[in-house]
Amino acid sequence: MTEPRLLIIGPQGSGKGTQGQRIADAFRVPAVSTGDVFRANVKNGTPLGLEVKAIIDAGDLVPDELTGAIVRDRLAQDDAAGGFLLDGYPRNLGQVSDLDAFLDERDEPLNAVIELSVPRDESIRRIALRAHEQGRADDNDESIAKRLSIYESETAPILDVYRERGIVDAVDGVGSLDEVFERIVVALTARGIVV
Ligand code: AMP
Repeated sequence: MTEPRLLIIGPQGSGKGTQGQRIADAFRVPAVSTGDVFRANVKNGTPLGLEVKAIIDAGDLVPDELTGAIVRDRLAQDDAAGGFLLDGYPRNLGQVSDLDAFLDERDEPLNAVIELSVPRDESIRRIALRAHEQGRADDNDESIAKRLSIYESETAPILDVYRERGIVDAVDGVGSLDEVFERIVVALTARGIVV
């Protein structure tokens, strides 16, 4: 059996947070979402939260060193020894190098990258719905536009790196939660990553 060391990647509103949590539950590994870590810190008013709030609200990326340190700490915890599901990290090529350095040292490479794709208008529709339901401070028009554009310019290119390694599974993100989840499970099973 291949250990589930997974990354889920997709534009804002692709459903990656929801699917990521389901995958993590099914494969019994922790879901590590940098966005969730940042939001929890902002909510609790921690020093980290105070440092990153304005950056997040504007839809910009938090500096790589800060984000990388958070992920390394989290992946070094015991519950991530048998695998993990990364959601929202890495998000640019520099973060890919940082993560590679960390995982190479442990001899624990990523073994699948789930690329969740949804058309741009569908992802905007879903973000608008979420803004209404959750009231996220960064779900305003300006921030949404900036995050989608950063996704296209900085995050999508990291898929080329992982494609070259042969570890990307492109999954159609349009459909019910169950349908999309099933597609992901089928793709992972084909890699020997089984529930
Ligand atoms: P998310 O929930 O993944 O969309 O993340 C929400 C916000 O947190 C992003 O718009 C960024 O401001 C910040 N963030 C999350 N992950 C990262 C990352 N890997 N690098 C830099 N900033 C991040």
